[in-house]
Amino acid sequence: MVQRPDPASGGGVEDRKCPFCRSEDTEVISLFGSQVMTMQCKCRACGSFFEASKY
Ligand SMILES: [Zn+2]
Repeated sequence: MVQRPDPASGGGVEDRKCPFCRSEDTEVISLFGSQVMTMQCKCRACGSFFEASKY
């Protein structure tokens, strides 16, 4: 069984791969980034923080 993030907390977020290492092993730090449509994420693979689009 594949472990997936809770869709209720992420709002159906799919595209939050790490832009640095392309890893999908990321976690959401905050649902609100510098812009309304972005959220802050952290890559567990390389430890980088990045912003991902919610939509
Ligand atoms: Zn990464």
